[in-house]
Amino acid sequence: MGFLDALLGGAKALVRMVTTAISEVVIQTVKGLEGTQTGKALATVFESWAQSKASAHKQAADLAAEEAEIAQRMARDGKLRPADWERKQEIDKERDTLREAHAYADAARMREDITAAGDEAKVVAANADEITSAIGLLAHKVCGCGGRMAVVTQHRSVSGGPPHTEFEWACPVCRKREKFDPIKAAASVVRTPDLELDLPVNERHRLWNEPETLAETNARLSSHLGESDSEVLCPDHLTPMKLFPSLTASKGRVLDSYAYACTGMTIDGRRCLHRVPLDRMAQASAALRRLEGVGILKAPPKKRGSIYTGGASV
Ligand SMILES: [Zn+2]
Ligand SMILES: [Zn+2]
Repeated sequence: MGFLDALLGGAKALVRMVTTAISEVVIQTVKGLEGTQTGKALATVFESWAQSKASAHKQAADLAAEEAEIAQRMARDGKLRPADWERKQEIDKERDTLREAHAYADAARMREDITAAGDEAKVVAANADEITSAIGLLAHKVCGCGGRMAVVTQHRSVSGGPPHTEFEWACPVCRKREKFDPIKAAASVVRTPDLELDLPVNERHRLWNEPETLAETNARLSSHLGESDSEVLCPDHLTPMKLFPSLTASKGRVLDSYAYACTGMTIDGRRCLHRVPLDRMAQASAALRRLEGVGILKAPPKKRGSIYTGGASV
């Protein structure tokens, strides 16, 4: 079974479509998660997922602070001192080690979650909502220019048809874009049960877009402006990104209003370019779940009363 390694992140695994029994896929996924990571040795010093994450966040924050000091010295002197240049190379290496620590900690948590879910663990076809709910949590890859590419979405409607989500790798430094189609790559998602994603797509979208729900989602998201989300990390700084009003907030729609941004600085004293627009409901729901413990829909939808049975559930 092939892992789409680039898209392993958060509490989900994307795997190539297979036709064996679900339990077999789950077992293989767990095995694969154990086998694909290279940072196992790192994890032995950590006791739990939460501790390993907290430790990695602390180290990333220290490295970012140190890099900012180097940037300040460089701005003052007009050039990078040899000792600072060397330290910057070491910081980059330490960040690679931290990336491995995160990958291993996430894989270990995923393995635990799937194992704990037992028969309830699911293998579902990859669709736009499944994947957009993990945007911002997904792995990154290095661009030819040295920048780090992240997965972004585009929403297009071809000749007036229904809007359709396209995925691309995007580099914020040189602005290169590469098409990427996890759905065409025949991927499946292995995950634990999910109140919203387990609903039929039309029902899910109808419920998400009810006016009261939209208003509540907006109020909930806006109450978190300025907060950092410990699971959405800057690909470069590995520090948690913060929720900010989006540059397109003037359009007034919930989904144009928020974006995650990195507050880090680059070595030449500029603002870090990484940002993740929060522009799909599946993404907003996943963000609320991380911030508040519940997604957009807080409870399973009530079954509508039937006109034939005098209000009983159908
Ligand atoms: Zn690039
Ligand atoms: Zn950054």
